[in-house]
Amino acid sequence: MYGMAIHGGAGALPRAEMSLEGEDKYRAGLSEAIDAGFGLLECGGSSLDAVTRAVMLLEDNPLFNAARGAVFTLEGRNELDAAIMDGETLRAGAVCGVTHIKNPVELARAVMDKSQYVMLVGAGAEEFASSQGFSLVPESYFHTPERWRQLERILAGDLGLSPLTISHIGTVGAVALDARGRLAAATSTGGMTGKRYQRVGDSPIIGAGTYADDRSCAVSATGHGEIFIRAAVAHDICARMRFGGRSIGAAVREVVLEELPALGGEGGVIAIDANAAIAIEFNSEGMFRASRVQGEEAKIAIYR
Ligand code: ASP
Repeated sequence: MYGMAIHGGAGALPRAEMSLEGEDKYRAGLSEAIDAGFGLLECGGSSLDAVTRAVMLLEDNPLFNAARGAVFTLEGRNELDAAIMDGETLRAGAVCGVTHIKNPVELARAVMDKSQYVMLVGAGAEEFASSQGFSLVPESYFHTPERWRQLERILAGDLGLSPLTISHIGTVGAVALDARGRLAAATSTGGMTGKRYQRVGDSPIIGAGTYADDRSCAVSATGHGEIFIRAAVAHDICARMRFGGRSIGAAVREVVLEELPALGGEGGVIAIDANAAIAIEFNSEGMFRASRVQGEEAKIAIYR
């Protein structure tokens, strides 16, 4: 049995602000990514390759808050974070605050596969990238007018959309189980609009926004990163399964619908276990998401 799930961020645009045309574009982006990742699984590819591929496509898509199309910092830059984890070996790789890497998840994968480290930051991460033959892209590659307008709205104090809502649109992630029973998770983000002081959220933190363990499940999160770090969301879900005997659905519901709201944490997660059971839960208005398991069609959704 194999399967996978992907997300394109929680806190989707309020339904009233989302046009049908806009919705179609997001659905097309999600569909392209799940098809590519799932296609690899169908051919016997690894869960690590499937999550890497799906997240790279979402990073390349300017609609989502990861790599191209990332949100802007207060200073008008794009600082990118990403992580990946292998549930079979518990190896992991992460990068934070990179500004010239076209596909941060690919660099996180290189950190995992080709360095003795788990997490590299900023200029050091980019130096490692160059040593591995990655070509660096200019900062302008990541810019989109839409994200720039969002920064301007926040700077102008436009509360028509809360900063939280604006910021949460579009972090991307994927979780997968391959035919050999191996789980993997990956997440990539531009973080939150208007962030400063080289703030880093949960996405690249192993155990917060990203975690995979073949003994429980693989998780990728999206939402208000500070709270997700404090709640160690991804690892908590795995631990509830492994030590608390919860099903994946119960573990995910407890964390997303009880633990996070108690701390004021808005967002959601996608998760898959070793039986290809998929759990997707969010406490925000929506979450861009898609999933597919062996023998079934893909499911794509944005709102409840
Ligand atoms: N979790 C991300 C962060 O806090 C943002 C998001 O998922 O939208 O950096």
